[in-house]
Amino acid sequence: MSDMVDPTRMPFGQLERTALAEVLASGQLWRGNGAGWGSRHDSAADSVADRLEDAFARRLGVPYAHAVNSGTSANEAAVAGLGLEPGDEVICPAACPAFVPFAVLAAGCVPVFADVDPHTLLLDLDAVEAVAGERTRAVVAVHLWGLPAPMAEIMAMARKSDWKVVEDCAQAFGTLIGGRPVGTFGDACCFSLQQSKHITSGEGGIFATTDPDTYARAVLYSSAGVPHFRFGLPVQSKPEGSIGRGHIAFGHNHRIGEMQAAVALAQLNRLDEFNRRRTELVALVEEELARRGGVVRGLRPIADAEVSYWRYPVLVPAGRGSFQEVPYLEQAFQRMEAERRTPFGLPLPKHVTYAPGSCPRAERGAARVRVLSVHHGLSDAELLDSVDAALADL
Ligand SMILES: *Cc1c(COP(=O)(O)O)cnc(C)c1O
Repeated sequence: MSDMVDPTRMPFGQLERTALAEVLASGQLWRGNGAGWGSRHDSAADSVADRLEDAFARRLGVPYAHAVNSGTSANEAAVAGLGLEPGDEVICPAACPAFVPFAVLAAGCVPVFADVDPHTLLLDLDAVEAVAGERTRAVVAVHLWGLPAPMAEIMAMARKSDWKVVEDCAQAFGTLIGGRPVGTFGDACCFSLQQSKHITSGEGGIFATTDPDTYARAVLYSSAGVPHFRFGLPVQSKPEGSIGRGHIAFGHNHRIGEMQAAVALAQLNRLDEFNRRRTELVALVEEELARRGGVVRGLRPIADAEVSYWRYPVLVPAGRGSFQEVPYLEQAFQRMEAERRTPFGLPLPKHVTYAPGSCPRAERGAARVRVLSVHHGLSDAELLDSVDAALADL
């Protein structure tokens, strides 16, 4: 694909190598076990995952962060953290990666797709209103390509309706609205550390929140129900004389490993450097688009946004787009539509549909959008070549 970067050019340097070597030398490849994450064989030492969570929370300006083994796991932690009931409905944008509604299904809830703004492919407030119902309990806002969803409006609607809000920031490390980082507007947020994202440990993810109960539920979900709480949250001790390891709730094992955490922490320390380079590349792309004139133009961010682009989306003539992420068109959702139930056997309510055509603006929009790489590993010449290749047929 034209927007992929040769992985050998990925800018991993001395910082990442040293961090990895230290983990191997420590003899600990996992973050630990016991009450809280702290009790390792060297019980005085914080795990690298602890340090990653501390640094991430500090950078975002929130009290709680929890690192996990993938961005999808972080999406799941965020939805699980809301404490919803089975069958509750969660509104998702009709243009976003399938990982987003999958996390809703994993929580035992029903994803309901709202159509998007045709100009930005981001969540549209009127469309959200149109699909909201009795069982709506939450909304997932996705900051696609780094472009922020309109959080002020989304939060106003959610507070009025008593809904929770998750912000999916997997593509928006460093994006600001009114000077405030995305991820700090909603009740919970999630980031991905997968290979293609702003910073990466190959696979990995981080969940964050300002609410201790949301944090606690997310940690239980991600660590097989064992209360590995940090940030000063009390860890209940096992009842006197009880047999067992201390699983106080159902959960998955979505723990992050120390090697992943070490690379992620080194990359987090380089995020500003990467984003400075991305800003230069975005300026080059915009110059190049202006120079070409014609039909291709960038998508306009909301007022007040400082966009940290993951990829640079452009509008192209109708039918010439190559954006693929309208999740209900995936076979997984078509099967649910045919069987009228979720993969875990929950019946789909009558008013919920995944039928093709149900969110026409997302479907038309996908056929009008292409994305250009602005990866920080690219040279100027490589960037211009990749723009050429991506738009050659227009
Ligand atoms: C990448 C991504 C995810 C999933 O993250 P993984 O680390 O690939 O599991 C979820 N949401 C969005 C918006 C993403 O871009």
